[in-house]
Amino acid sequence: MNRLLRRQLRRLFEAAGEAEMEQRLAALAAPGASSADAALARFVTAVADSYDQYERDLDLRTRSLVLSSDELCAANDRLRGQTQHLYAIIAELRATANRMLEAQGRPPLGEGDADLKNLVALTGELVHEREAAQIARTRALHALGQQKFALDQHAIVSITDVAGRISYANDKFCAISGYTRGELMGRSHAIVKSGQHPDLFFASMWQTLAQGDVWSGELCNRAKDGRLFWVASTIVPFMDAAGRPEQYISICTDLTDRKLLEENLQEAKNAAESASRAKSEFLANMSHEIRTPMNGIMGMIGLALAGNIPPEQHDYLETANASAQALLAVINDILDFSKIEAGKLNLECVPFAPRRELEHMLRPFEQQARERGLRLHCQVAPAVPAQLSGDPIRLRQIVTNLVGNALKFTSAGSVAVRVDVAASGEAEFCLLAVAVTDTGIGIAEQHQARIFDAFAQADNSTTRRYGGTGLGLAISSQLARLMGGDLKVQSALGQGSTFSFTARLRHATQPAPQAVAPATPAPAAGLRILLAEDHPVNQKFALALLGKWGHSVELAENGRIAVDLYARERFDIVLLDLHMPEMSGLEAVAEMRAFETGSRRARTPVIALTASAMQGDRERCLEAGMDDYLSKPLKPQELREKLARWCRPAGPLERAAGPLHSGA
Ligand code: ADP
Repeated sequence: MNRLLRRQLRRLFEAAGEAEMEQRLAALAAPGASSADAALARFVTAVADSYDQYERDLDLRTRSLVLSSDELCAANDRLRGQTQHLYAIIAELRATANRMLEAQGRPPLGEGDADLKNLVALTGELVHEREAAQIARTRALHALGQQKFALDQHAIVSITDVAGRISYANDKFCAISGYTRGELMGRSHAIVKSGQHPDLFFASMWQTLAQGDVWSGELCNRAKDGRLFWVASTIVPFMDAAGRPEQYISICTDLTDRKLLEENLQEAKNAAESASRAKSEFLANMSHEIRTPMNGIMGMIGLALAGNIPPEQHDYLETANASAQALLAVINDILDFSKIEAGKLNLECVPFAPRRELEHMLRPFEQQARERGLRLHCQVAPAVPAQLSGDPIRLRQIVTNLVGNALKFTSAGSVAVRVDVAASGEAEFCLLAVAVTDTGIGIAEQHQARIFDAFAQADNSTTRRYGGTGLGLAISSQLARLMGGDLKVQSALGQGSTFSFTARLRHATQPAPQAVAPATPAPAAGLRILLAEDHPVNQKFALALLGKWGHSVELAENGRIAVDLYARERFDIVLLDLHMPEMSGLEAVAEMRAFETGSRRARTPVIALTASAMQGDRERCLEAGMDDYLSKPLKPQELREKLARWCRPAGPLERAAGPLHSGA
């Protein structure tokens, strides 16, 4: 029974102790007790049960309270743990977001921006951007892959590290080099080195690449089977973050076929050039060989014409002479043309007076024009300088050719020569413009370009009607070009033509020499002349001519005999053929000059006689010790002038600067 109830009952029963109270209570319930006592006893029992029940309930409630307080603590701990975890996650998220921002070059999050909501939104945004970038990267990689594929189809590609070890070689590289990819990987690129380039070549290539620059060039490599192949190569260095090359990619195209073609072309060009040289030499030799007998023919005709012969024979000889002159003109043209083709025609640069030269050029044509009933005009513009420097002989050749053609192809009317100055824009030079206009047959338009080709005429009937070789305009146009100008034609069939050319001539710094009197008087007869000449006809002609002029001549058949004679006897002048057996004219004059020095003998004038008339002859003659030069066939008038020049008393200056005309 509940202690509080016992105490109450004890007080109620006024019992002295527990046991009394227990007795009184038991008495209430004892059999025979009044119904009121029995009811009281039951009531007390019910109250006691209620107390017990209450206590049990209280106990139960207390226990459940204890229990729920423990759970609360545990839940609290759990919650704290979860919150810490959450903070850690936010910190991690923030760090991640900051890393992504940094990767994009954006500023990191401020303290205030870093709440979870912001972070989640930002991270979402960043992840989205990253995904877009990833897609773009994938696309770019795909495109790159396609480009690489295309490159591999076209080019020979290899990649090496900085030490030159191959880390990639495409199929084309394998195919051209003959190595498998396995054989190439990790090997030095020098595996294909051919040894055809000097070390310096590669040194300069590596230097370029090491500087991070692109190298391009043509390389000769060697395949596995020893075969050489050529590539046009571009090598690009890939740089690391520090700006140093870390790999080299080489992209090449195969040049082998082109190189082969070039080699073949070069060979063909060499062959063509040597054939052209052979042709030029052949032409030069032929003209030389023809000139020698021509010398005899023309000389003898000249001698015969000077003699006392019946008029009919005189006429025959005049005709023969005219034919010989024409033949000589053709030979001279061929010689000039072969000289130009061989690039051996060098122009002179001497001062001359254009007006005076033009007068001399046209004089021979005046008679011809008169005889044919044609008017020949000449007009020189005031702007044309009084003095110019250039090659008056070659200038004369062009004008002579153009005026000769104009007269040849004109039967009525006139031929006009106009000289003017075209604007050259150069203070040092004058662009001389010469035009020759005729009222002749003209040239059909379709033939106008062709007539400047060698051996070409406007049409085939020209040769039959007018003769000619078709070389004149080819030579003239080449000469004009050599003079820095050009030759053009304007023509209308049946109405006439204008041929005009320009020549770039230097303004003269010194005046042209005074014109030489056309006919120099023959020197006093009685010169002692040493003539060295091996050709019998030429000997005969020269002896006859010189004899006729009253000179005494010692004949030597070769250079050796001439030198011996020269050492033994004194002569006023020596005429030395260049090409002779035993000793050439050049060797002979050198010995004569040496002899003069050794024996302190005064210098005797020596004139070279030659039929070759090629460029360089004059220089060679001068260097060897000759004073002057006469080309064959010998023209009596020219020979006479030379004798007069060198054998009359002359001032020292004139001797020293003795003019050396080619006479060609
Ligand atoms: P050639 O006169 O020896 O035939 P050229 O080279 O001087 O050689 O001339 C080539 C050709 O150009 C002549 O054959 C002629 O058909 C034509 N030609 C040149 N000059 C004239 C001209 N003034 N009038 C008409 N035709 C000309």
